[in-house]
Amino acid sequence: MLRKLTVTAVLTCAAACLPAAAQTPVEVTLTRLDCGTQVVNDVGVRFTDTYSHQGLKLPFTFSCYLIKHGDDYMLWDTGHSMSAGAPAPKVSIIDQLAQLKLKPEQIKFIGISHFHADHTGQLPTFPGATVMIGKGDWDGITATPPMPGANAAAFAHWRTGGGKLEALSGDKDVFGDGTVMILRTPGHTPGHFSALVRLKEAGNFLMLGDLAHFHENYESNGVPGFNFHRGDTVASLERIKKIAANLKATVIIQHDPRDINKLPAFPAAAK
Ligand SMILES: [Zn+2]
Repeated sequence: MLRKLTVTAVLTCAAACLPAAAQTPVEVTLTRLDCGTQVVNDVGVRFTDTYSHQGLKLPFTFSCYLIKHGDDYMLWDTGHSMSAGAPAPKVSIIDQLAQLKLKPEQIKFIGISHFHADHTGQLPTFPGATVMIGKGDWDGITATPPMPGANAAAFAHWRTGGGKLEALSGDKDVFGDGTVMILRTPGHTPGHFSALVRLKEAGNFLMLGDLAHFHENYESNGVPGFNFHRGDTVASLERIKKIAANLKATVIIQHDPRDINKLPAFPAAAK
């Protein structure tokens, strides 16, 4: 009788003594937003430094992502601005958020893969968000003059101290529970990062920023001639491929339209 009571007590504690977070994990979801109008690129010209893909023309899409973590919202990249000309989005991020019944003020964090204009264009429309960007890119944005290719204007609000910004030197566990990681993958730019989102049902997703622009370069470790550092790019590709294999993650190349349907079509979210 005594023994039985002890067992019951242990079982009760096993259920009741777990930390609250372990009992009720927050819901994490991932939604693709369309953040630009497709353009066709001759990828055998600027997107290779080894004369690969001669004559290959591929459409590029512009993707950004909404991540819901409990009651908190985060954007990964902000696409082209609405005044970007031909590749400008048809519908702004704010209007896409409105379709999801979200206000821009509800975006708590914005993770930026890198400082180029097609990933930072709509950043100024979220002045209340805390921005997370690689330190190498932040140094390029704040340099005088800014590094070539850095869309410094989009960061004006954060450069002048008007908004919160975290310059990342290494990986960042955004919510402290491992579900949303910003991973250091330099090479395309000095402070380029990728994102890992871990979902309960749909599994793990890696969003590569511009670590690779299309399948053929990802598969062959191809490096565009305009990248900041060739060796870092290849090393970052090796890192991401190992993570993808270890976590059985779905790899999403943000510019490749062949990867759009790896996530449910907007407004649906992967869970
Ligand atoms: Zn880029």
